[in-house]
Amino acid sequence: MSAQLIEGKKISDAIRIEIREEAAKLTAAGIVPGLAVVLVGEDPASKVYVGSKEKACQQLGFYSEVHRLHAETSQEDLLALIGKLNRQDTIHGILVQLPLPKHIDEKAVIDAISVDKDVDGFHPVSVGNLVIGDDSLLPCTPAGVIELLKRTGVEISGKHAVVIGRSNIVGKPVSMLLLREHATVTICHSRTADMEAIARTADILVVAIGRPKAIGKSFVKPGAAVIDVGINRLPDGKLAGDVDFDDVLDTAGYITPVPGGVGPMTITMLMLNTLKAAKRQAHSG
Ligand code: NAP
Repeated sequence: MSAQLIEGKKISDAIRIEIREEAAKLTAAGIVPGLAVVLVGEDPASKVYVGSKEKACQQLGFYSEVHRLHAETSQEDLLALIGKLNRQDTIHGILVQLPLPKHIDEKAVIDAISVDKDVDGFHPVSVGNLVIGDDSLLPCTPAGVIELLKRTGVEISGKHAVVIGRSNIVGKPVSMLLLREHATVTICHSRTADMEAIARTADILVVAIGRPKAIGKSFVKPGAAVIDVGINRLPDGKLAGDVDFDDVLDTAGYITPVPGGVGPMTITMLMLNTLKAAKRQAHSG
């Protein structure tokens, strides 16, 4: 039997309706949720992402500022802009689009963002809060994965979740979030021995490795929920995930397509974080 599709686009649209309603209430109370996006340089993919974030702000009634800086911008100037945005009352969330040009120290930039406005969830304090279970701003893609599972009705508690990939952006935080939801979590990476056999014991398999169609049905337990975080551009220009969708379709119980699975959730979770940050700053201010 064919796996049930986890339709990220539909789920994301439903969440956006909820966000718009909440944002309207907050705006009526005098606080317009505000997001600042900073783009340094001309990376084509980054330009597209920034454009999508700007559009999402317009759709949801948020205030937005996009700071497009030239590729030679100094670290000092970038840090000065972040300092200004940290102090600016109309801005509740700050996102610096990564990757940054080589001459800028990414860590120094992330560390400079106020934790209260860290809507990407990459600041070390946000990461620490995630690990100890405090109510922090959660990294967007991992939070999107959890939301997809919950809204599809996939049970997480007590299940075995295997995460393939251990990056700071996806693999590690999604593992922590699955643990928070009471899954038993195994993390695999490029040096994991016998990964296929481990993956085949997963009730929930999350794949984030950046290798097109690398994970086929020999990695999948019949009936498992397969979440494909990968976004890879093939030579023919088409997008593919890290999972071989066609190969896995008849084995998995649930599967996210690429595109249209995890991807649409990321910006939606960014908007949710900005709303959450605005509410918090309104209460504390
Ligand atoms: P990354 O930083 O390159 O990390 C890749 C991870 O996968 C590493 O931990 C690496 O292991 C592991 N890995 C690589 N090849 C492997 C293999 N053959 N077997 C087992 N593990 C392997 O990548 P990332 O930033 O996490 O991104 C992963 C994918 O998700 C990419 O396709 C990216 O485009 C996509 N992505 C999508 C979204 C979204 O919005 N949907 C957001 C972020 C990323 P080692 O640590 O041992 O090297």
